[in-house]
Amino acid sequence: MKWSTYFIPTLKEAPAGAEAASHQLLLRAGLVHMLTSGVYSYLPLGLRVLAKIKHIIREEMGAAGAHELLMPAIHPLEIWQQTGRDKTLEDVMIRFKNKKGTAMCLGPTHEEIITDLVKSFVQSYRQLPVTLYQIQTKFRDETRPRFGVVRACEFIMKDAYSFDTDDAGLKKSYAAMYEAYTRIFARCGLKPIIAEADSGAMGGKISHEFLVPAPIGEDKVKDENGVEHASIEVGHIFQLGTRYTQAMSALYLDETGKQQPIVMGCYGIGVSRLLAAIIEVCHDPKGICWPAGVAPFMVEVLPVQAGDPETMAVAGGVYDGLTKQGIDVLMDDRDESAGRKFNDADLIGIPYRVTIGRRGLQEGKVEIKDRASGVVESVPVDMAVGHLLRLLIPAR
Ligand code: ATP
Ligand code: MG
Repeated sequence: MKWSTYFIPTLKEAPAGAEAASHQLLLRAGLVHMLTSGVYSYLPLGLRVLAKIKHIIREEMGAAGAHELLMPAIHPLEIWQQTGRDKTLEDVMIRFKNKKGTAMCLGPTHEEIITDLVKSFVQSYRQLPVTLYQIQTKFRDETRPRFGVVRACEFIMKDAYSFDTDDAGLKKSYAAMYEAYTRIFARCGLKPIIAEADSGAMGGKISHEFLVPAPIGEDKVKDENGVEHASIEVGHIFQLGTRYTQAMSALYLDETGKQQPIVMGCYGIGVSRLLAAIIEVCHDPKGICWPAGVAPFMVEVLPVQAGDPETMAVAGGVYDGLTKQGIDVLMDDRDESAGRKFNDADLIGIPYRVTIGRRGLQEGKVEIKDRASGVVESVPVDMAVGHLLRLLIPAR
């Protein structure tokens, strides 16, 4: 990708009102744009990170035996009345009437919708267990939207639902999701603290929260040493049992031909919230330091003088060499000052930067900088691509 024809609207200063470091950096690095309180657009660079996060989630959900589907965001309110959650979620549920006068809402979560769906297809124990998930936009009229995409009114969630014949089955499905979550967050560069939690509005018994320590966190959690941390909830898993399936008569016939309620679990990840949580953990005073697993690009090629033919020829060679190997490369080919380009590079936080300047080229060298550690190496021009490919091995 060439920066000059791309769309990365970086800002020198964070707009007023952005308190959280992640919120400031999301805005300054040109990743998101606020439409109104709690409602955000994801700009091309931000969307690339979201795509990386979703890719990791899909791989790990698939490996854990979960299957992806996609459910509607618009629901008839009637389905929520079946479990009484039209009342318990009243505060966050965005409601309206359609032209015919039918009460509708925008989905704040999907337990009722998936239970209705599974109920229409599953009749026998032979069709269980099954775990289904989606990555979808949720709507919650949050009282206090805060910290950018951390607490938004429209946000992206991965929500999975397991259906089993009995409690032992649920425990197994739950353990598979717990494992998958640990792997997903690790691949996103995070080490959340896992806490047994209150299942609140979801109902059910056992539940675990995945909490990332960060100064802006609204939750409190103790680490293994008993030290308390403010933390951001990035995931929450629940053993629901039969709370929803009983209320909605989602039943199956067991081996003896007896009707039983399906035993259910649900598993959420705040996909768009992760964008902020990762930045909260991975940044320094100059900007973002993307973990390799979710970086929008792996390498930024930075020709210092965009007007110098030799510089641009070497930059083009490195760019093509890496691109041919399947590496996502961003080239800052803008005709901007070196200072501006260096600042922007630190701000958007691509893991490796190759700087190509007149001075280095006189010795036949380019500079390779590791964004997170700040370590700089001077490498002969014709070895730059090979050197970067070696550095990128752990990430590929
Ligand atoms: P919270 O306690 O932060 O309000 P919740 O317990 O209501 O969240 P769940 O219903 O468990 O959230 O949703 C699953 C996941 O979706 C959460 O773990 C969180 O990561 C994310 N999430 C929930 N609400 C929001 C929101 N308003 N904006 C962004 N992400 C959210
Ligand atoms: Mg929760």
